[in-house]
Amino acid sequence: MNLQNKKIKAGILGATGAVGQKLISLLINHPLFEISALAASEKSAGKKYSDACKWLETIELPDSISDMQVQLCKPGLDCKIVFSGLDSSVAGTVESEMASAGYAVISNSKNHRMDVSVPLVIPEINSSHFDMIRSQTFPGGGFIVTNPNCAVVVIALALFPVYRNFGLKNILVTTMQAISGAGYPGVPSLDILGNVIPHISDEEPKIETELQKIFGSFSAGTFSPAKFNISAMVNRVPVRDGHTVAVSFETETKTDKDSLIKAIKDFNLEAKAQSGFDVLKYFDSPFRPQPILDVNANSGMTVSVGNLRKCNVLDWKLTALGHNTIRGAAGAAIINAEYLLRKGFI
Ligand code: NAP
Repeated sequence: MNLQNKKIKAGILGATGAVGQKLISLLINHPLFEISALAASEKSAGKKYSDACKWLETIELPDSISDMQVQLCKPGLDCKIVFSGLDSSVAGTVESEMASAGYAVISNSKNHRMDVSVPLVIPEINSSHFDMIRSQTFPGGGFIVTNPNCAVVVIALALFPVYRNFGLKNILVTTMQAISGAGYPGVPSLDILGNVIPHISDEEPKIETELQKIFGSFSAGTFSPAKFNISAMVNRVPVRDGHTVAVSFETETKTDKDSLIKAIKDFNLEAKAQSGFDVLKYFDSPFRPQPILDVNANSGMTVSVGNLRKCNVLDWKLTALGHNTIRGAAGAAIINAEYLLRKGFI
């Protein structure tokens, strides 16, 4: 048997969008998954993929993908798992239909993230939550797992070492979120060029609730959310890729800067042993991280943290940055699928 035959067939829902395109570019040469179906809205279905979307990725599309016919997002796709980059107006219903038809659904959309039996996972932090799948009751035996909102991934990875070592009481976070976070074509250029927009629909509640689910504990079938106060303020800024977050936090146990840095570095070493790449990079410089310099660290999978200093209101403050369509979306979904495969769920 050649290696190709061993790969698991994967479909992409929302294949024409920003996240869908990133999924394609990250899956084209993936050792475990092969793209076998592309699906999007009625507007795109029936067309050749290259005619259905404006390809925005830097890699060239192989003919095998560009010639594929886009299908409707319905059961019947020739694949075992589906990665979903669907618009949230349809993701809820479509993902449930696909799970009911037996597919493993790995979703980037907000719709099912807070469902009681749906894992919301960053595997380096809470892979034990995948066991929630066992309480899902889709008739065809499929299931849904989700990865977090793209700003939440950055905040969660930056704060988890602090949370697990010192506890967290209060968090204030201000985000500076890239334009690509709004999909394609997204925010009109005249609205965002040279500007900052101090609102992103529905984003603040996602940050405030998802973090508590991810840091929550799940054992013996019982889930308890993490308890801390968090307030988020979000902004859209004229950056193409990369969400930057400025975070102030108060810890349960008082600590010092060296211990915080050690907690961050120790967590990275543990996570790296599993993932094979730096999950979290710490900078001593107050000028880092920056989107232009750091967003593509480790092909966009590393979250960068720096500018750690005392805060006069809460205990500490820092700046963190992550690639929103890679670590915050497509790359996050793919590492979830890899973990699911390793744990025998797929
Ligand atoms: P996008 O560029 O607007 O793409 C949306 C996709 O959904 C397109 O493929 C579109 O297909 C499809 N779609 C829209 N209406 C549909 C319908 N009625 N039936 C079937 N398919 C439909 O958005 P995006 O930025 O890729 O985001 C996709 C999802 O990921 C969203 O839920 C978003 O919140 C989430 N997310 C995005 C990011 C990010 O950084 N961009 C990060 C994390 C999570 P057509 O082209 O055929 O219309």
